[in-house]
Amino acid sequence: MTLLELKDISVHYGRIKAIHDISFSVEEGEIVTLIGANGAGKTTTMRTISGLLQPSSGSILFDGQDITKMKAHVRVVHGISQAPEGRGIFPGMTVLENLDMGTFGLKNKSGVAESYERVFSLFPRLDERKKQLGGTMSGGEQQMLAIGRALMSQPRVLLLDEPSMGLAPQFIRQIFKIITEINAQGTTVLLVEQNANQALARAHRAFVLETGAITRTGTGKELLADPAVKEAYLGVG
Ligand code: ATP
Repeated sequence: MTLLELKDISVHYGRIKAIHDISFSVEEGEIVTLIGANGAGKTTTMRTISGLLQPSSGSILFDGQDITKMKAHVRVVHGISQAPEGRGIFPGMTVLENLDMGTFGLKNKSGVAESYERVFSLFPRLDERKKQLGGTMSGGEQQMLAIGRALMSQPRVLLLDEPSMGLAPQFIRQIFKIITEINAQGTTVLLVEQNANQALARAHRAFVLETGAITRTGTGKELLADPAVKEAYLGVG
């Protein structure tokens, strides 16, 4: 079943067109990866899906419903949740307070308890550090907190914008493992990454974004083997 569909989406910043009529869909249960160079429009695409940016044309369907005009906080309640690039946690709040910010869309207390259980089992480190201020945690821990917070609302699709950015190699491996686990538990994942190798290896399907347009598409494996992708994004000729 198609969970998320972008149809001919264009996005402008003032007069600058950052996204040019892109269309793609995400099926329920998939990990879909968007790769692309700096400035290709990956973050713009993610923010348009989460409702932080309004497209200048085109439409977005979620579970068959047109959500193009829906406000970002309402999209969260419907099941779209984003862990933003640069983490975006609240540095002056504790781990617990940060996670609590993710629960506003949940209707009942048992849902909140379930969310805590899931997040703490995925990220035992956050359980150990409940009372620590977000801003005093390491980069990898803050990334876990950002993903954990996005999961608290029990999304049907989790949007991850460069989760491996700035992390040490052992954290990068760990984050990708956890993303696969989140997906295996039933959450659809749309992943934006510059760390193309690992992101493609874990993707069911992937798209290459170049200056605001989709230029290549295939399974993760197909794009990993594609010579043009290898040369441009995988650091091998
Ligand atoms: P990065 O990996 O560097 O975050 P990206 O693929 O996510 O890159 P975007 O941040 O979506 O790319 O940017 C796409 C294009 O839109 C770029 O040309 C960028 O300069 C431009 N852009 C992004 N944000 C703004 C803004 N607030 N105002 C004007 N132009 C912007």
